[in-house]
This record gives sequence, C-alpha cells and structure tokens, in this order.
Amino acid sequence: MPCYRCGTRQADPEPGKPSPWRRGVVGEHQVLICPACHQAALADLTRCDRCGGVHLIRRLDQVECLDCRLTRDAAEVPAQPAAPAEPAAAPQPDAGLAAEVARALQRLLGPG
Ligand SMILES: [Zn+2]
Ligand SMILES: [Zn+2]
Repeated sequence: MPCYRCGTRQADPEPGKPSPWRRGVVGEHQVLICPACHQAALADLTRCDRCGGVHLIRRLDQVECLDCRLTRDAAEVPAQPAAPAEPAAAPQPDAGLAAEVARALQRLLGPG
C-alpha cells in the first residue's frame, strides 16, 4: 500500500528496525503515511475521541486506538459514485465515405 498523500511506495524496512512508516485512519479508511508526510498528515488523520491520539487502525467495521485501546464502530462512508459506463461505440458514418474516397483515388491513380 503506498503513502496516501504522495503515493510513495514503502521500501522494505531494514532488518531489525521498525518501519518509519506510520499507519492511521483518514476518512474512516486505513492509510499508510510515509516519513516525509508525517507532519502534513497530522491535519488529516482521524483522532481518537478519548485520548486525541492519531495511532488508529481500522479493523473490519471498527476503528481502534492503539494508544488507549478505545474501540468504536467505524462511521458509514458513502460509497464513491460509480464511474459512468463506457459509452457504446458510435456507429461509423464515415465508413461509406472512406470507401468512396478510396474508389475515387483508384480512379485517379488507375489500376495497378
Ligand atoms: Zn507520503
Ligand atoms: Zn485513544
């Protein structure tokens, strides 16, 4: 999962070191935050109702605070509107015209 702000992909953490990436919840969705976006992300992150911490994780339909273990039901997030279907392929009114042009060219250029 890339950083939700800048799209950077997480590199493999060095062995024995905790990843500098953080997890959080934005708009009731679990997100990953790269080290460069920590500060900017603080304004976006959902905060715990009890302790104000931003170390939240989304679990199924619940959001849990990793600091004080407060668990609450995740709010309903309205589904994204479905993308409009691809428009049906329009008929090609120029097909006959193209054939006519080709025939005219043949007449001009002669056979062969
Ligand atoms: Zn980032
Ligand atoms: Zn908390």
